Amino acid sequence: MSAPNKSYDPVEVEALKPEEIERMRDEAFAAFAAAGDLDALAQAKTAHTGGTSPLSLANREIGALPPQAKAEAGKRVGQARGAVSKALAARQAELEAERDARVLVEEAVDVTLPYDRTPAGARHPLTTIMERVADVFVAMGYEVAEGPEVEAEWFNFDALNFVPDHPARQTQDTFFVQGTTPDGKPTTGDESGIVLRTHTSPVQARTLLDREPPVYVVCPGRVYRTDELDATHTPVFHQIELLAVDEGLTMADLKGTLDHMVQALFGPEMKTRLRPNFFPFTEPSAEMDMVCYVCRGTSVGNPDRPCRTCGSEGWIELGGCGMVNPKVLIACGVDPQKYSGFAFGFGIERMLMFRHNVEDMRDMVEGDVRFTRPFGMEI
Ligand SMILES: [Zn+2]
Repeated sequence: MSAPNKSYDPVEVEALKPEEIERMRDEAFAAFAAAGDLDALAQAKTAHTGGTSPLSLANREIGALPPQAKAEAGKRVGQARGAVSKALAARQAELEAERDARVLVEEAVDVTLPYDRTPAGARHPLTTIMERVADVFVAMGYEVAEGPEVEAEWFNFDALNFVPDHPARQTQDTFFVQGTTPDGKPTTGDESGIVLRTHTSPVQARTLLDREPPVYVVCPGRVYRTDELDATHTPVFHQIELLAVDEGLTMADLKGTLDHMVQALFGPEMKTRLRPNFFPFTEPSAEMDMVCYVCRGTSVGNPDRPCRTCGSEGWIELGGCGMVNPKVLIACGVDPQKYSGFAFGFGIERMLMFRHNVEDMRDMVEGDVRFTRPFGMEI
């Protein structure tokens, strides 16, 4: 057995000297006190209580001491570490309380402030009217049909019985995307150019070619004509078109359908009238008018109560209609001996103008929310 190693003096282990331990402890206290927020405190915590902190390193030195020196050094280091973790917990609690107080102030909500500072827009009234009209017909069992806006000339004109030299085919009315044959010659009745559709009626021909009667469809959509944009014209506008083809349909069915539509849109007292007209794709054809929904006809012959909406005529022109021309049925492969049909269509812009006294068409296309917002979600 060897004698105690008298030459080893634990006091000589630098890291375990009482003043060294005190210095380490005080440095930790100072670092915690200096930490201004929880992030800084977390850094100080790692530096002064982590595995490589001075006190942890000193703690490891204890194992190397002779037994008689271990207890004292262990007590000293243990007390210092205890004091450090107590100081850390206290500073942690202090900083958390400060943070909570700050969050309460910074994230406070003033419930008296106006709640809606971002103005909400609104759907465009043209969209809303189109959907509303389509809904009336969907409720009667019609389907919504759509077609391309860049359309074959054949669908836009020929299938609808427009003769080859019809004025509507000329470039002062129609946008031609491709008006010539591949070898550069002007198209004739046998060859089809490409146009921006001038009405929604080509959807009629497409629908009839696509399916067997009975056919009941409503076709809302955008159409194009070479008009300058001014108060009453726009080169891009909207139509809604209706087509019914079935056995035994007559003008009386057309009239009943029109009456139902205006009553659904304008009120139960409304009615329509038909005036003879001509369209290539219907025979017979008619202009349809509805009773002025503002004055209900009371302005007629009554100069004391003039009506701006109908010009004191008592009726408002709504659009065109008629029985589908048998030539159109034949062009679309439908037997006119067995089936008959009716169609009508009208412009949505025009309906918006007389219904809401919109006087300038440019307001509808300029995209100013001050125009659309008053219409809100419902018109
Ligand atoms: Zn009127």
